[in-house]
Parts: sequence; structure tokens; C-alpha cells
Amino acid sequence: MPSAELISIGTELLLGEILDTNSQFLATILRNNGIDLFRTTTIGDNVQRIAQAIKDALTRTDIIITTGGLGPTIDDPTREAVALALNVTTEYHPELWEQIQNRFNRYARSPTENNRRQAFIPQNSIAIENPVGTAPAFYIEKNNQCIISLPGVPQEMEHLTNLFVIPYLRKRYQISSVIKSRVLHTAGIGESQLDSYISDLEYKTNPTVGLAAHSGQVDIRITAKAESPEIADQMIGSVEIDIRQRVGKWIYGIDNQTLEDIALQSLARKGWKLSTIESGLRGELAGRLVQNKQVYLGGEVLSNLPEPAEFEKMVSANRQRYSTDVSLGAAIYPEDEKQNVLIIVNTPIDIKKSERPFGGPPQYAVRWAINHSLNIIRDL
Ligand code: AMP
Ligand code: MG
Repeated sequence: MPSAELISIGTELLLGEILDTNSQFLATILRNNGIDLFRTTTIGDNVQRIAQAIKDALTRTDIIITTGGLGPTIDDPTREAVALALNVTTEYHPELWEQIQNRFNRYARSPTENNRRQAFIPQNSIAIENPVGTAPAFYIEKNNQCIISLPGVPQEMEHLTNLFVIPYLRKRYQISSVIKSRVLHTAGIGESQLDSYISDLEYKTNPTVGLAAHSGQVDIRITAKAESPEIADQMIGSVEIDIRQRVGKWIYGIDNQTLEDIALQSLARKGWKLSTIESGLRGELAGRLVQNKQVYLGGEVLSNLPEPAEFEKMVSANRQRYSTDVSLGAAIYPEDEKQNVLIIVNTPIDIKKSERPFGGPPQYAVRWAINHSLNIIRDL
């Protein structure tokens, strides 16, 4: 299996102005294609430091992917840095200059003399045409190693990765396997309890099964490595069936499905509308629901903390106020060291109450309370 390192280039990354989402994207896609990512480095727009980082990486890894620093201005350093690392100069490519001009012309604009800089790429490198932006990308092969330089703009970087980088790497390193994952989301069960039901599966090597807890919600990730995506899906599917037989009643969704979406869908199937009233949750309960205007009709965010008996009356008044079928009330009462979470759900059938101390770190109490509330709604 080949190994890779990423180098994210841009002073704005080091100043904390933007998040390095390019590395996150590339890390996922490398993993899915069976390439081991061993290190990511972030460097500002400085030719010497980038060149040094490339030289260092060349002593350790097969594949180096840089993102950023390919723009038209003096402080876009990647072309020069790659050349410096390999002890070559940059070369002018008239066909790249033509591509750049054509792209500008399509938008009825003309390139500046600065854009000509983008037609210079390191000697021995091969240009990767960029159909979604003006900055040409390029790659260089050196024995069994390669350096691939991609633009920083995430949309351009992603496009070139899917279109060129992945097919190129799979062919060059003769990668035939794929890695796929599926995440099963659970709520209403703790990590250790879940673990006790499926711990034998966590010893499997392919597919692997792992748990990750997120305050009131625990994810089960199944990851399979196989010769094709179809085989990986089958392998994941059979482990999923096994897991669902054991803990299916706590699984609310998979992959990108959220607890709020599932809870609201469950209400929609009953034809019920929802409103909320919350105290001590920073308005985040309403925030999680507000996208869905068909089922969620609105909520009250209290600035005070009413006594529990008073809160129960307010939950019922909330149902009338918004003319909904279900009113969900959630409040956090700080008591001693504990956070006591009170949830009251007023439905056309009954009133459900749950009062439980949250034992975890206080900063996670809000998230826990919200997930716990939404799970009650999902289960109505
Ligand atoms: P550059 O190619 O360095 O001119 O980058 C162009 C733009 O892409 C920057 O202004 C950022 O907004 C964005 N960008 C660059 N690097 C990254 C990164 N690692 N993650 C997310 N966005 C990035
Ligand atoms: Mg930049």
C-alpha cells in the first residue's frame, strides 16, 4: 500500500482565518482508495519553508499532495517551492497560457500579465488541466515517488482530485482495493452498554467495527476493505444485519441522517406538528429543528429557569400557543455538581416526563439534553 503526505499551503491557514478542509477531504478520499496517509503539514506562503517540507516528505513517503499557492500573485509560492525542492527551475508552457486566456475569454474578461505566472511550472512536471478554474495544477514523477500540486480553492481541488488524481494514483500504484465505511447512529443507549452487546464484533479485522460517543448519541462505524465497492457493500451489509439484530431498536439512522431529521419524519408520519420550549439550552434545541418548517412550528427560549411544576404548565401552554400536537420542553437545572435534565413531552395521548442527571462534563450537557429529547420524539 503506498503512503502519502499532504502539505497545505497558505498563511491564512496558519493565522486561523480558514479551516483546512482540503486536508479533511483528501484524507477521506485517500483512505477510501487504500492509500495510507501518514502526515499532514501546514506551511505559510514561503518558498523556502515549503521546499524544505517537500524535501523532508520525499525522505519518508511515496506520494506528496500539496494544495494552495497556485494563484497568479507574487505570494503564491508553490510552483517555485516545488522547483526548489527538486533543484530545477520553472518553465514557461505556452499551451497553459493559452488555456488560461481561453478561460478568461469565456467569461468575457482578459487575463492580467500576472496570470502568465501560472503558465510557469517546474521543469519535468506535467500540467493537469483545470477545467473549473484558472490555476493549472501539475505533477512530477521521481522514481516511484510523485508530487502533485493542486489549487487551494476547495471546489477546484475536489474536482481535480476526482477527475485526475485518484485514477492516476490507482493506476500508478496498482491499487485495486477500496475501503468503504457505513456509520450506524444510535441514541438512548450508552457507549459501554452498546459495547457489551457487540464487543465480539469489535475484534474483527475486515470489516472492522468501532464505536464513537458524541453526548447522547453513539456511532457504530463499519469499515470494509475489498476488491470492489460492491463487495465492500456486501461485507458491510452482513455485519450491519448482525448489529441490527442485537441493538437495532437504538439505531435511528445511517451516515448523513441526523437525529432531528429522523425525529421530525417520525412526527410527520403521524401527521403531528411540533413546538418547543427550552431553558438553559442556549436556544440550540430550536436551532436544530428550525430548518423543517413543515413539522416544526416554532419555539420559546426562556431566559429564566422555572420550577419543574411551573415548567410543566408552560409546556402545555406552549402547545396551545403554537397550535401544535406535540410540545417538547427541555430544561437543565444545575444542581450541586450535576446537571439535572428535565424533559417533558406533551402529546395528544399523554404527558411523558424524563428527569435524569447528566454525569458528563458540563460543556456537553446541552448536546446530551437535546439528543435525549429528540430521541424521545422519535420514539413517540
Ligand atoms: P490559493 O490557491 O492558495 O490561492 O487558495 C485559494 C483559496 O482557497 C484561499 O483563499 C482559501 O480560501 C482556499 N483554500 C486554500 N487552501 C485551503 C485549504 N487547505 N482548505 C480550505 N480552503 C483552502
Ligand atoms: Mg494562498
